[in-house]
Amino acid sequence: MDTLLPDQLEYLRSLLTRQLDGSTHGQRMPAVEEVETSPADSASKRTMNELAQEADAQRQNHLRALRSALARLENGEYGDCEQCGQPIGFQRLSVSPEARFCIACQTRREQLRR
Ligand SMILES: [Zn+2]
Repeated sequence: MDTLLPDQLEYLRSLLTRQLDGSTHGQRMPAVEEVETSPADSASKRTMNELAQEADAQRQNHLRALRSALARLENGEYGDCEQCGQPIGFQRLSVSPEARFCIACQTRREQLRR
């Protein structure tokens, strides 16, 4: 069986907490307005803003995933694939502690999206 041991859960909890701390207190990309730009730069400035917004949205998503993983850890629901209910496995979780799907389901979902 691939069920997580208490030691492994503790390790993953510390990983999640550390990532959460790092993302909230970590360096923020400065808003483009704070960076000196000439008026001629407004086109690239708009692109920069879009990129910054995208990066921000991605970080928010990641934070949400980390928080919900921590919540599942508290509930004892952590570590099982949301799709098939199989254990995700410690190896995968130690790389992406916020993972909600096992590698097989994750791969299938990514293929579906294409
Ligand atoms: Zn699965």
